[in-house]
Amino acid sequence: MHQNNGSFIPVDEQFKLMADTAPVMMWVSGADKMRYFFSKTWLQFTGRTFEEESGEGWIQGVHPDDVERCTELLNKAYNACEEFKLEYRLKRHDGQYRWILAHGMPRFNTDGVFAGFIGSCMDIDELLESERIKKEFISAHALQIEQKLNSQLKTANAELEHINKELHQTQAMLANLNDELEEKVRVRTIELEDSEQEQQTLNEELTAINEEFAVTNEELAATNDELMLSQQKLERLVSDLKETEHRIRSLVESAPFPIGVYQGREMRIVLANQAIMDVWGKGYDVIGKTYHELLPELDNQQIYDQLDDVYITGIPFHARNQQVDIVVDGKLQPFYFNYSFTPLYDTAGNIYGVMNTAAEVTDIVLAKQRVEQSEKNLYNMILQAPVAMCILTGPQHIVEVANDMMIKLWGKPVTDVWNKPIFEGLPDSRDQGLEQLMADVYYTGQTYRASERPVSLIRNGTQEVVYQDFVYEPYRDSGGNTTGIIVASIDVTEQVLARQRIEQNLLEAQKLQKQKDGFIGIASHELKTPLTSLSAIVQVLSVKLKDNPDPFISGALSKATSQIRKMSNLINGFLDISRLEAGKIHLDKQQFRVDQLLREVADEIQITTQIHTIYVHHNSHVEVSADREKIGSVISNLLSNAVKYSPGGKRIDVSCETEDGFVKVIIKDEGMGVKEQDLNKLFDRYYRVESDHTRHISGFGIGLYLSAEIVKQHGGRIWAESESGIGSTFYFTLPLG
Ligand code: ADP
Repeated sequence: MHQNNGSFIPVDEQFKLMADTAPVMMWVSGADKMRYFFSKTWLQFTGRTFEEESGEGWIQGVHPDDVERCTELLNKAYNACEEFKLEYRLKRHDGQYRWILAHGMPRFNTDGVFAGFIGSCMDIDELLESERIKKEFISAHALQIEQKLNSQLKTANAELEHINKELHQTQAMLANLNDELEEKVRVRTIELEDSEQEQQTLNEELTAINEEFAVTNEELAATNDELMLSQQKLERLVSDLKETEHRIRSLVESAPFPIGVYQGREMRIVLANQAIMDVWGKGYDVIGKTYHELLPELDNQQIYDQLDDVYITGIPFHARNQQVDIVVDGKLQPFYFNYSFTPLYDTAGNIYGVMNTAAEVTDIVLAKQRVEQSEKNLYNMILQAPVAMCILTGPQHIVEVANDMMIKLWGKPVTDVWNKPIFEGLPDSRDQGLEQLMADVYYTGQTYRASERPVSLIRNGTQEVVYQDFVYEPYRDSGGNTTGIIVASIDVTEQVLARQRIEQNLLEAQKLQKQKDGFIGIASHELKTPLTSLSAIVQVLSVKLKDNPDPFISGALSKATSQIRKMSNLINGFLDISRLEAGKIHLDKQQFRVDQLLREVADEIQITTQIHTIYVHHNSHVEVSADREKIGSVISNLLSNAVKYSPGGKRIDVSCETEDGFVKVIIKDEGMGVKEQDLNKLFDRYYRVESDHTRHISGFGIGLYLSAEIVKQHGGRIWAESESGIGSTFYFTLPLG
């Protein structure tokens, strides 16, 4: 036994038995707030010994955040000697804090002095929102004690009656004896008158009789003493019985769970505590009524049959989470109960009634139903989800539910994976780091997201790598504890492979481009030497021609010079590109006037065309620090394009203006223009507009690319505005200074 049996606060053995078998945790305390009894259920719940819990030890199991609130409320209850209800978290044997509903009822001695509390505790963790107390069963022993004591009382009374009867008989006997003696004295007196001798004899006899009488009197006194002693004993026994009966009654009355006692086969209510009357929604006038009179609505609900069976067979009946429809507020409403019917026996061993204990569990059952329903909804959602989903439960990650998409992704027959630990059903997914990820989610409750994670699986017999975007979401019970993992996964293998192919192609294209650039670089370099010689020869020929002028040769040489310059520009362009790629373009900066450079280049280009007129607008003195030759080539390129892409031959306007620390050069033509969609691609390498107009115009699409690179290296900007068929305007800026 784990209770303290200190003589000053006795705990009835029968009560212990009742509390230990009760389905709620129970405790008893003294007026000094020390707890000196804990039911087995309590100790099983906390996993601690009676010694650890007794006195104030139990407080160590209370959640640190709840200790102050608990202590305050308990102090109040003890000071006021009043019933209390209290919700707090208590550490269970597995270390988990569970919400507990404690219900304490004050206890009083027969003389009305406050003696402490008797308390019950229920695990209501699943029912945080629930406002009402959930009552639980207890076994029926308390009332059986009452029965036993009642019968003891009866036996004692019978004994008392018996002793009284004996007393009466003894007294009657004494009275007879007295009568006899008196008769004897009378006869002797008469005889005395007859003879003195006889008188003498009579005297002697009388003395003897007197002696006998004295002895008899003494005996009578002794018998009387004995009787008094028995009487006192009996009184003590009766008062003890009364005390015990009071204790039992008050225990039943104050028990925080419903108890009712029904007598006879007609189930007449002889005892009902407040808790059971609350369940029925009735007052004390129920006593004396039959169960049927009280709750006629139970007619078709088997309860009468159950009661009758217990009464007839003596086999106790227990029901759990049983729906019972009771009329409350004039309406038949469903409630749920755990209840027991226990037979009650009289001293002769015959059943004389049934004890009913019950606990209303409507809220618990409804909460469970809600949880089950929401679980069902979740499962349905998962089964119908448009992505692969499953729930893995417990630390083993057992496949609880998985939709078709998930099964397809795993590539295994359903029977291989269903209800099995995931890494057992999918052994091929082991050792890829997934075990650790799942353990982390399960134990920390943190969501994990993966993007394009490769997972190697043997699907339908073939080893494959699939890429997955997936989420591991902790799956929590209503108490917020992680009990599993919800997995949602999207197969992105196709996209990943497609992207990898594109990246591969791009890499190859870049490689080819590099080879092309390398080739162009080398070819241009090789072409430059013969072209320089050719240019020198043409120049020598021109000089020689002055001595011997010939108009045909002169014209031919001039055309040759023009073609050589074109070719030279082209080759220089290619060389510039390969230098640019190699990062070998260096700016050779110097101070010069942009307005002057514009005029010079315009003059040069004007020579190449007779059908266009280049107007250089009068510009003020604009000076920059830049690479004169390279900026010259940018202007030359833009002007050549203006000429080249205006085959109709019209005017070309060149100007420059300063703005916010920059000079802006503007070259405007009235040529074929560029369509909106091509405009911002013009500056890309090798880009050429493809149209009927441009098809016959030669070029490589590198002029604008090089120009843009040069302008950018100077810290400027280049852009174009154009309208197809109307003309184009090209702009570039350079920082002033
Ligand atoms: P290329 O002239 O050798 O093709 P560019 O880089 O100089 O190379 O020009 C790229 C493209 O921009 C040209 O092919 C042409 O289609 C377009 N372009 C350039 N300048 C003009 C312009 N002034 N008017 C119309 N289109 C132009």
